[in-house]
Amino acid sequence: MKTGNTVIAPLVSEEASTSESPVPIVPRGIFTLFNNNLQNSISFPYDASVSSFMKKNYPETTKKEWNNWIWQVKNSIQTDERLKEIFGESYENVIGSLPDNHLPFRITPYFASLLNRFDADHPLFRTMIPAKEELTTGRGEKIDPLNEEFDTPVPHIVHRYPDRVLFTVTGFCAAYCRYCTRSHMVAKDNKSHVSSQSWDVAIDYIRKHKEIRDVLISGGDPLTLSDTRLEYLLSQLRAIPHVEIIRIGTKIPVVLPMRITNALVKMIKKYHPVMMSLHFSHFDELSIETKEACNRLADGGIPLGSQCVLLKGVNDSVETFKKLNHELLKVRVRPYYIYQCDLIPGSAHFRTEIKKGLEIIKGLRGYTTGYAVPHFVIDAPGGGGKIPLLPESIKCVDENGITLINYEGKEYFYPEKT
Ligand SMILES: *Cc1c(COP(=O)(O)O)cnc(C)c1O
Repeated sequence: MKTGNTVIAPLVSEEASTSESPVPIVPRGIFTLFNNNLQNSISFPYDASVSSFMKKNYPETTKKEWNNWIWQVKNSIQTDERLKEIFGESYENVIGSLPDNHLPFRITPYFASLLNRFDADHPLFRTMIPAKEELTTGRGEKIDPLNEEFDTPVPHIVHRYPDRVLFTVTGFCAAYCRYCTRSHMVAKDNKSHVSSQSWDVAIDYIRKHKEIRDVLISGGDPLTLSDTRLEYLLSQLRAIPHVEIIRIGTKIPVVLPMRITNALVKMIKKYHPVMMSLHFSHFDELSIETKEACNRLADGGIPLGSQCVLLKGVNDSVETFKKLNHELLKVRVRPYYIYQCDLIPGSAHFRTEIKKGLEIIKGLRGYTTGYAVPHFVIDAPGGGGKIPLLPESIKCVDENGITLINYEGKEYFYPEKT
């Protein structure tokens, strides 16, 4: 919904930006959670390479700690120095220091261990480790390219479509993707979670707007919230009669798979129907840890879809997407969207030509399972919403019928009138 002349509220509340956090880099409340959560970390499977990675880089750490998501958040890698210790001086993309106000660098020890399973030129490095190119703003690039502030009637709500809203519940992520669409709002809030009071204004808005039947909880990453806070959100939303479905957008199964505890899944199940959109970039993200996380969510009856950003040199080929989408279907994740990379500042080195996305859809449709073919969309600059792009399938239409082009380029006629 366009808000017309109403006051445009900032996306990040001021209250949150002055809130205290024990250590600025860790969300509020995370320390008390740590001790209570150790029992939740038992029996999460890990790749065989984790042992040697831990021995080298985290010699004091136990497997139990490693499999505890709060340990992972507390021990995340945020400096160039630590990155060099882990990957060696030779890793050339390492950037000395990022300017203030720039999207910070942050990855979990788990994600570092995943990267360590590959060579230093593996495309996944580029998705999370800052490159020098991101300091240059290219043509048409903007802080808020989707003009989300314009569709923000109250803080944390983006109401763009008639029947659904985006609810940005935190500015915190376990890892920051270098091409983040919301880099203007994430990792601000003193790098901590926002307060429940500022959620209540947003929840009130949803309660008052009966046309909202679908709430998409996003951020930041909602699954970095504790079970208790997430349950508060889900229970508040479920109590609103007109809210039919709740969706959660997250990259947690990829960057912090051990967050998907049995306790979390059990809690979410109480608020069904809850669906999830999982952010993936490459088939090599599907480690045994990530597969376990997806299987747990699917076993919890949560319909899973994937969202991918098309990134130059990372996943811009038919073969990469075919393999990624096949791997996703094996863990019951249905490919949902491929996004053209948004025009955020410093993203030019990631951006592909529009025809690349069309080429990928063309290479999938007909050649593989329909379930493995997502929608290729451009989230229109300025706030027009997601616009799908399709390879040409109509040759011509006249009073007799329609001439169609199939996936192999052959023509077929469908009579309109008999
Ligand atoms: C992507 C998005 C949605 C959800 O769109 P779907 O096509 O229903 O998945 C809702 N609101 C905003 C602002 C969005 O950007």
